[in-house]
Amino acid sequence: MSYILLPFQFKTFDNKSLLVNQAGEHLFLPLEAFNAFVKQELQVDDRYYNKLKAKHFLTNEEEKETVIEMLATKLRTRKEFIMNFTSLHMIVITLRCNCLCKYCHASSVDLESKNYDMDWETAKKTMDTIFQTPSMDIKIEYQGGEPLLNWDILKQSILYAEFLNKIAKKKLGFVICTNLMDITDEQIKFCKKHNVEISSSLDGTKDIHDCNRVSRIYDSSYEAFINNSTRVRKVLGDDGCSPLLTITNKNINRLDEVIDEYAKQGYQSIFLRALNPYGNAIKNKDSLGYSVEEYVNAYKDALSYIIGLNRKGICFTECFTALFLSRILTPFSTGFVDLQSPSGAGISGTIYNYDGKVYPADEGRMLARMGDDFFCMGTVNNTYDELFNGKVIRDIVFNSCVENMPVCSECVYQQYCGADVIRNYLETKDLMGYRLNNDFCKKNKLILDYIFELLSKDDEQMLDIFWAWITRRPYKAVQLEQN
Ligand code: SF4
Ligand code: SF4
Repeated sequence: MSYILLPFQFKTFDNKSLLVNQAGEHLFLPLEAFNAFVKQELQVDDRYYNKLKAKHFLTNEEEKETVIEMLATKLRTRKEFIMNFTSLHMIVITLRCNCLCKYCHASSVDLESKNYDMDWETAKKTMDTIFQTPSMDIKIEYQGGEPLLNWDILKQSILYAEFLNKIAKKKLGFVICTNLMDITDEQIKFCKKHNVEISSSLDGTKDIHDCNRVSRIYDSSYEAFINNSTRVRKVLGDDGCSPLLTITNKNINRLDEVIDEYAKQGYQSIFLRALNPYGNAIKNKDSLGYSVEEYVNAYKDALSYIIGLNRKGICFTECFTALFLSRILTPFSTGFVDLQSPSGAGISGTIYNYDGKVYPADEGRMLARMGDDFFCMGTVNNTYDELFNGKVIRDIVFNSCVENMPVCSECVYQQYCGADVIRNYLETKDLMGYRLNNDFCKKNKLILDYIFELLSKDDEQMLDIFWAWITRRPYKAVQLEQN
C-alpha cells in the first residue's frame, strides 16, 4: 500500500464522483479513478494522485502527521465563527407595523397597540447585555414590526450603545430593517451621522410588491418604498439601503422580472429567499406557498438569468449562491446563521424581544408569537452567563453539529450546509429533526447539486463571475486579474 486515505464524504453522479473532505476541499473524479483511489490502487504517477494529495484526500506514512495537522488548521479556520461569539444582535424595538404583509413572519400588530413597544429600561438593559459579548465585532440590527414607529427609544439606544463603546472599543455597526413606508429627513440625517445602514424589502414589480406587502396607510407600498428608498440613497449612498426579496407564489414564476426590477432601481444584487413557515406565512400557506421542487426550479432559472446578465457585462450577484460558493471555494466560514455547524443560532446571532425576552434566532421569537416559548433563553434581567451558557444554547449546540447528525454525517455537502434547529423543532418537536422528509435538507441538497453541476462544467467565464460574487468585485476586475 503506497498511500493512506484521509476522511472524506462522496456522492456519485452519472459518470463521476464528487469528494469533499473535512476541510471543505472538493474534487471531481471519473468513476474509474475513484474506484482505483478507494481500493488504494492508484499509482503515484497517476494524474489524479497528485490532485488527491494536494487537496488532502490521501497522504503517505511519512507525511501523515503533518498533513493531519494541516487539515486540523483548515477545520479550525472554517469553525472560526464559534470564537467570535456573538456578533449579530437583533432588537425587536416594536411589534407595531404600518404594513400588513401577507407573509409577515413576525406576526406584527396594529399601529395603536403601543404596549408592544420596547420601553427605555428594557432597551438600556438590552444594550448592557449586548456589550458583554466577547465578540469584538458587534452589529446591532433593529427589527419589528416597523422599528421607526418607536423612534425615540431606537435613537436613544443607539446613542447609549455609542456611549458604552467608548470604553468597549469594539467595531460597532447598526442596521434598521424598515419597510420604508415613512421615514423623516431627521431620521435619514441621524442614520448618516451614526453610520446606520438601512435594510428594506422589495418583492418585485409594483403589482407583485403591492399584492404581497399591503400597507395599512397607503394605497401602494411599492410607491412609498421607491420614493423613500430614493431619498435614503441620496443621503446614505447607493449601498446605504439594501432590499430583501421574499419569494411567494405571486413572484416565483416571474423572477426574471423581479431581477430586472432590482437592476432598474440600481441594485446590483439580490438574495433569493424562500418563504419560512412562521406567522402569517403559515396562516396563508395555501395562497402563498409552493413545493421545494418548484422553488429549486425557479432558483435555477433565476440563477441562469443572472449569470446571463453578468456575461453581458451587467454586474449582478445572487447572494444565496455566493454564500454557498464562498463556503465551497474558500477556506473561510461565512457567518450565515442557517449554514453553520453547530447552528449559528445564539452563537452568531441573538434576538432581544420588545418585552426583554431573549431568543437565539428570529425564528425562535416567531415561534413564541405562535404560542410556543421553547427557545426563550431568559430575559435581559438575567446575567450574560445565564443567557448564553444556559440550557437553550447548550441544547442547540449539542443537537446541531452536522458532522454527528444522522444522514448529515454521511452527506457529501456536510461542510457547506448547516442545521436549522428551530425549524427542526417546529416540524418534529425534536431539535435534530428528521432529514428524510425535511424541506430544508431537500432544498439545500438540490441547490448544492446544481451548483456543483455548474462548477463541474469548467466554464472559465462562469468561474470568474462566481469569484466576482465571492470577492464582491466587478467581474471585469476578476477577468483582468486572471489574464
Ligand atoms: S413583514 Fe415587516 S413590514 Fe410587513 S407586516 Fe410584517 S413586520 Fe410589517
Ligand atoms: S441537511 Fe441535508 S444537505 Fe445538509 S448536510 Fe444534512 S443531509 Fe446534507
